[in-house]
Amino acid sequence: MRQKMAAGNWKMNGTSASLDALQALAKAHPAPGCEILICPPAPLIHRAAQSAAGTAITIGGQDCHSAPSGAHTGDTSAEMLRDAGARYVILGHSERRSDHHETSAEVRAKARLAMETGLATIICVGETLTQREAANTLDIIGGQLSESVPDLATGENLVIAYEPIWAIGTGKIPTMAQIGEVHDFLRTRLEARFGPGVGRSVRLLYGGSVKGNNAAEIFAVPNVDGALVGGASLTAEDFSPIITALD
Ligand code: PGA
Repeated sequence: MRQKMAAGNWKMNGTSASLDALQALAKAHPAPGCEILICPPAPLIHRAAQSAAGTAITIGGQDCHSAPSGAHTGDTSAEMLRDAGARYVILGHSERRSDHHETSAEVRAKARLAMETGLATIICVGETLTQREAANTLDIIGGQLSESVPDLATGENLVIAYEPIWAIGTGKIPTMAQIGEVHDFLRTRLEARFGPGVGRSVRLLYGGSVKGNNAAEIFAVPNVDGALVGGASLTAEDFSPIITALD
């Protein structure tokens, strides 16, 4: 049985005052039926991990470098994330792929080092609206999956997030049939590459405009093991119903 996951990506939002939201969330869900992950911006990770200690909340980063250390001004290494208390790292988010021109080969290199460092990875894949309208979704997703996921992947260190780019922050979501088609495809591809044991234990999250009022419907789709949530993860009030929908 795959453990369900509610993952919050705060993106470039939050200051130390946001740790109150973390505390409120922890209080509201002392014994959740799913894994709760919060990925705050890098400067908050250490304090967030301290604040989450002894609660059901796990902390993660939003990116890390593909090199273990060195002359990379402004970057954060996998080891630094781990040292700060992170247990996961999101890699290949579409905003990183577009803002920082990250390729799938770079995502794979980052993921390899993150896994070797003992971090679990959430690797993001997703199509643009143009690609969907041209009926290229599965080709794009299949390519991103095979190129971004390293051979080291296991059921413990890999989570895949399917995030259609046109659904992120827009309030638009695919139909449940479209979500199901991509998640089934991801499962089949993972099983073919890693074998049924690993392939069936990797968790698959849906991301893109997940809210309290659509979460239950999305979570009922086969092979959807939870969500990667942006905007609705910033307050306990918005994130809590999504967690409850996974109970
Ligand atoms: P959103 O973002 O929930 O604000 O649409 C999702 C994401 O980018 O992970």
